[in-house]
Amino acid sequence: MTSFEEARRIILEKTAPAGVERVQLLDAVGRIIAADFAAPCDMPRWDNSAMDGYAVRSADCTPGATLTVTDFIPAGVSSDDAVKPGCAARIMTGAPIPQGADAVVPFEDTEAGVGTLMLLHQVRKNDHIRFKGEDVAKGEPALSRGTLIGAPQVSALASFAHLLVPVYRKVRVAILSTGDELVDVGIAPAESEIVNSNTPALAAAIKLCGAEPVILGIARDNRESHLALISEGLKADVLITSAGVSAGDHDLVRETLAALGVEEQFWKIGIKPGGPTAFGLKGSTPVFSLPGNPVSTLITFEEFVRPALLKMMGHTKVLRRTVPGFLKSEVRKKPGKLNFLRVHVTVEDGRYLVSTSGDQNTGILKTMLRANALALLPADRTEFPAGAQVELQILDPTLEMEE
Ligand code: AMP
Ligand code: MG
Repeated sequence: MTSFEEARRIILEKTAPAGVERVQLLDAVGRIIAADFAAPCDMPRWDNSAMDGYAVRSADCTPGATLTVTDFIPAGVSSDDAVKPGCAARIMTGAPIPQGADAVVPFEDTEAGVGTLMLLHQVRKNDHIRFKGEDVAKGEPALSRGTLIGAPQVSALASFAHLLVPVYRKVRVAILSTGDELVDVGIAPAESEIVNSNTPALAAAIKLCGAEPVILGIARDNRESHLALISEGLKADVLITSAGVSAGDHDLVRETLAALGVEEQFWKIGIKPGGPTAFGLKGSTPVFSLPGNPVSTLITFEEFVRPALLKMMGHTKVLRRTVPGFLKSEVRKKPGKLNFLRVHVTVEDGRYLVSTSGDQNTGILKTMLRANALALLPADRTEFPAGAQVELQILDPTLEMEE
């Protein structure tokens, strides 16, 4: 049996960014830039005014002095006329500083006359000027490879009119559910049949990682069906199978994968739920075989598949940070396996207080629906008294938000 940490280590060691593509600026949002981006020119491109006011020669500007207004420079216009001694140019925010001027005086620091202004305060050289290249100088690294593209990054790229962005490509993730008992969503299940909820659940989880789900359908519990659909699935960047990976009579996933040249890296992890999970590689294509219980499927996706998909799409931070929480009431478990306890966390006085979100049986999806975090209960421990500190993975980002 492979430990949780070892399983994750193997998976992350065997996965690598899938490739690079160039996409339109807005299609790059939420993705990882795949190359350093150096500023192609200075930003700002010229010295410009940081205020609406007057461009002046600071040497002229003793408090109480009067200057003659000889020019007007709105934003988007540059003036060819130099500001002469004793003069000022009316200038709007963002407009280029004219020759001769070395400071800007905001309107509120002046008293306007007819064609003149009077200075109310001391003016120093460089006041209220934004200098060429002061944000980013030409050639300076503006974004480094590995950065997640959000609105500030789009702002930077757009300001240089950089419209095609190299990003790590989205991975295509094939999903195969297996089992004779399954019917697809939309078909009324007969008695003893169940709806294939794992395919849409996995597709949702894949989308939330920013990857692209490819739905293969349902493999029936016979070799031909498994062979046909698993072969198809191996054409994607990643294959996920659900169910048929335990020790049941019809559990054909592992043998079919082996027959198709997938090299199993491990089977069975010391965790609960999700123990029977297998991981294999066909060349560099990762194959995750997740158990069929919907709760186990979701948790093993979260713990093993999600980090791998993020890594394949160029993310460098792929594991959820764990944070300490404190149990509101006692919890017990059997020794031997790491347990993922589905919990409901509240924030009180800046501390995470943890209650179980219900029956921890793997058949109970409701407990997953009520959970906003997972508590990781170490394999070797069995008793966790009220008040005990546990490690939490926060699943619901709204936990940190206010109503
Ligand atoms: P297995 O891993 O094949 O032993 O399946 C474990 C449990 O998960 C059984 O109760 C299955 O009916 C259920 N199950 C398997 N596949 C799916 C699926 N695609 N959607 C929902 N439940 C499933
Ligand atoms: Mg089955």
